[in-house]
Amino acid sequence: MSLTLAIVGRPNVGKSTLFNRLVGKRLALVDDQPGVTRDLREGEARLGDLRFTVIDTAGLEDANDDSLQGRMRRLTERAVDMADICLFMIDARTGVTPTDQIFAEILRKRSAHVILAANKGEGSAADAGVIEAYSLGLGEPIRLSAEHGEGMNDLYSHLMPII
Ligand code: GDP
Ligand code: MG
Repeated sequence: MSLTLAIVGRPNVGKSTLFNRLVGKRLALVDDQPGVTRDLREGEARLGDLRFTVIDTAGLEDANDDSLQGRMRRLTERAVDMADICLFMIDARTGVTPTDQIFAEILRKRSAHVILAANKGEGSAADAGVIEAYSLGLGEPIRLSAEHGEGMNDLYSHLMPII
């Protein structure tokens, strides 16, 4: 049975880019429960010799500010409860935002295994944001560039003992 990794974080940090890199064209399962298809995507991931199921969370993109927090909480909790491991992604170029802090609080309260990833980590413009990520209280961030495929070795070494 393969373990499940959920990628969570606010819109536009690069979750789907990482999902696509891990899954490639092997997009396998789409939950067809009403309302679920749009919000959660599931695929079979490969990273080196590791095989696992990955969930991409979406569905927050079109929420206005009033409804964002509640939807975020519900969607994140649903993904986390489906998952064995949670990859929480921030945008290292932007640094930690108040929305990221809300996510971190949700995740700290769940017992799930959390891996923190600071994405868009290519180049020196990300240096400050990577350091800021420590302030989320979720341990050492993995510096990633989902778009350029950088940091995948660090992701591998974090997942390898778990998967
Ligand atoms: P999501 O909303 O979290 O799923 O984010 P997406 O995967 O749709 O990416 C949002 C934007 O960030 C897109 O324009 C991506 O091309 C860009 N992006 C994703 N990963 C990286 C990265 O590692 N570096 C940079 N510079 N841009 C990235
Ligand atoms: Mg997305």
